[in-house]
This record gives sequence, structure tokens and C-alpha cells, in this order.
Amino acid sequence: MTAAAPGRPKQGAVPSGGSAAHEVASVGALLLGCIADDFTGATDLANNLVRAGMRVAQTIGVPEGPLDADVDAVVVALKSRTIAPADAIEQSLEALTWLQAQGARQIYFKYCSTFDSTFSGPVRGNIGPVTEALMDALADAPGGDFTIATPAFPDNGRTVFKGHLFVGEVLLNESGMQNHPLTPMSDPNLVRVLQAQMTRKVGLIDHRAVAQGEAAIRARMEELESQGIQVAIVDAVSNDDLLRLGPALKGMALVTAGSGVAIGLPANFGIAPSMQASALPAARGLQAVVSGSCSLATQRQVHHFMQSGRPALGIDPLRIAAGVDVAAEALDWAQPLLADGPVLVYSTADPGAVKSVQGQLGVEDAGAMVERALSRIARGLVERGVRQLVVAGGETSGACVQALEIAQMRIGPQIDPGVPWCHALSPACGSGGGLHLTLKSGNFGTDDFFSKAFTLLP
Ligand code: ADP
Repeated sequence: MTAAAPGRPKQGAVPSGGSAAHEVASVGALLLGCIADDFTGATDLANNLVRAGMRVAQTIGVPEGPLDADVDAVVVALKSRTIAPADAIEQSLEALTWLQAQGARQIYFKYCSTFDSTFSGPVRGNIGPVTEALMDALADAPGGDFTIATPAFPDNGRTVFKGHLFVGEVLLNESGMQNHPLTPMSDPNLVRVLQAQMTRKVGLIDHRAVAQGEAAIRARMEELESQGIQVAIVDAVSNDDLLRLGPALKGMALVTAGSGVAIGLPANFGIAPSMQASALPAARGLQAVVSGSCSLATQRQVHHFMQSGRPALGIDPLRIAAGVDVAAEALDWAQPLLADGPVLVYSTADPGAVKSVQGQLGVEDAGAMVERALSRIARGLVERGVRQLVVAGGETSGACVQALEIAQMRIGPQIDPGVPWCHALSPACGSGGGLHLTLKSGNFGTDDFFSKAFTLLP
């Protein structure tokens, strides 16, 4: 066991309790290097780190060049949750190499809070294989011979007790996740689930140790390691548990978890919550919303925006399929309105309308057509001076970020749980320009999100 004993800081670790980490970070040293297995999960993690005081950038994939931001943590967003394990390993190791080259002092592998990973479904799980590959790569690093795994995120109703994952009030395998089309989770016992995916032995740090705090957690880690166990599922049923776990992870080369564990890590580097962490450049320019999400919360948000009297234009997928250039139409419609405040362009529709369109065009083709149109609209809006952009929909966000050629985002203040404002450079802004954007996945956000978001930018 190489993780430091209680009260004995690891080699290279910044002693807690001061502003040393910010002094280090201000000369460009990266403290936490994170690898997230999907895009919205990356933002969720980044958001938690910012709220705990870290200055965070999120990259879309592994950057080609060096880090271009003065931050404490970087979250590399991959799309590796349901790809073949060999590909997920390759991408994750590439991310690790890049993060190490930026000087990252601890690596955080972030996965879904429902631990989406199984060996019995249509796609083989990636959490075990990627963890194992990262541990192999970090085996010689200080603190590299032991890691934890816990998707606990009590704020989101994900708790782990006696190694069993609960989603809200029920066990994982009764939560609907047993029917997930790609990663059905039929076993709530995470020690068993992870052990099936790893050659290293998996054990449990149960709630009795977690409730007692750092010393008991470290003692349990040492006990497990003496039994040849190198990976531990950790119980956590509250944020207090995660905050007690945090100090015991100081000096560990690799942490694997959902986004919850992140709330306890910045303190290990002497970082406390501050307004400074979420500071973004001052907002300027025109405002717009592009919505391709058909989730219930988004339907209410579109309705709310229209009720408030703001201009909104619906996109009809059947007209796109008929060859009409709806993107050009939408941009012509928006142009004269933008000067008076935010406009909304949406394809958001109720389930009946979506089903009918999908029946005529096919599910994938309909989705791809709408994403292409909305992302062209997002790009066109930015080219016309929009510098504050709200995008609704996970896939829609991915398409818009791609159309805007965004490689990296700085994470700013939270608008609603899990949804922060971000700032990014885009060639669509003209030479050297940037824009503020927020990427809201499906069911996030209050009904007034599309108006409220703009009031929260300085
Ligand atoms: P969410 O985060 O709510 O799941 P996504 O953007 O991830 O939203 O997914 C919505 C999908 O539905 C996208 O592929 C989008 O292009 C597609 N879509 C949006 N509007 C319609 C519509 N009116 N008819 C059919 N498909 C649509």
C-alpha cells in the first residue's frame, strides 16, 4: 500500500489547509487529471469540482496540443462508455498519457452513477477493463497499487451500502437499469459486478469504516491490501461520507468513481470552495437557445419560454427530409429579432409527434437530420453575433459543439444542478473570439431555464 498513512502527506502532495494549491496552479501545474467516459458525465464531474473550488477545463476528446488554460483540473471527455473494451482502453490510455504530460498529480476515471458496465449485456462492460489498464499504467507511480471504485452520488439518489448500489429507494437491478438496452444491470452487488471484469481482486470498504473517517478508511485499505486486494468498492450514503472519504484518497495515483467523490478531493490540494473557481470572462453579444431535446423537462422549458412572449421557431423534421433548407430559414427568421433579446429555435416535440416522424423517416435518420439542422443553426447564430448560447439535448449538444469546432471549455457557475455555464473559443466567433454556452441534457433544469440562464451570467 503506497497511499500515505494518516497525517503523513505523500511525496509531492500539497499539504492541506492553505492556498498552496492555487499558488502551484497559477504557475500552470495541473492537480487533477480526469478521464470521463461520456460527454455530459464529464460536465457533471467538472461542475462538482468547480463547486468544490477547483478551476476546471473540459476538453472534447484528447487534445492534440498542450493544455491551453490555467486551471487546477482538466476533464477529458471521451465517448467510451459503450464502445468495445479494447477501444475504451486505448482512448483512456491516450488520455492518461496526455494528462501526465500536463503534470497531473492524481488521475480520476469517471463513469456513470448507475455503474453502466456489465459482462452479460449486448456490449461488454468497460469500467473493469479500463480501471485495470489505468492501474497497469500507473503501477510504478506513488500510490499506484491500490484504488477505489464507487458510483455513489447521494445528491442524485445514488447510494452504496454493503457494496450494493441503490438508485433512489430501490436496488440498481429494480431501478429500470435491469432493462437498459446496452448495459442491463441485473446485479446490484458492485463487488461481484466489478470482480467479473477484473483480474485484480476486488474488496469492500464498508460503511462502518467510512462512518469513522480517514484513519479507519486507511486502516481498511491496508487490511485489504494485506489480503492481496487492490480495488475496493466504497460505501457512501451521504455527502458527509464522501467528504470523510476524500482525505483518505490523498496520494492515491488513481481514483475511479462517479462524479460524487469529486466533492472531497479539492481539499486534499488545499483548495476550498470559492467564487473565483467559476469565474468566466464577462458575457457579451446576442443570446439564443437551440433545443433538440424532446424530454419532458425540455418540453416544459420550451413552453415556458413561449408563454413569456419571447420569439420561438419550431423546426419540422419532415420539411428537412423534403429537402427544404430549414437552417437557412431559421437564421433568416432569427436575424432581425436577435437585437431584442433571446430567441429560441426548437425541434422539441411531444412523444406522439416524435413517434410519427420516426415512423416516416426512421429513428436514426430522423435524429441525425434534426441534429445536423440544429447544429448548422447554432453555428449560423454564432456567426451572426450570438455569444450566449443555450443548447438543450445531450446528442444535440454533441452535434453543436462539433459544428462550432469547440475543443475545450472552461467551466463556470452552475445554473441548475449538473448544468454549468461554460466559456469556449470557436472559429465561428471570428478571430480569437469566444462564447458562453451551456449544454443541458434532457431532464435537467427548471421550467424557466431558457430565460433564467441568461440572468446568471455576469
Ligand atoms: P435528450 O438529452 O433529451 O435525450 P438528445 O439531443 O440527446 O436529447 O436526443 C434527442 C434526439 O431526438 C436527437 O437525436 C434529436 O435530433 C432527435 N429529435 C429532436 N427533435 C425531434 C423530432 N421532432 N422528431 C424526431 N426526432 C427528433
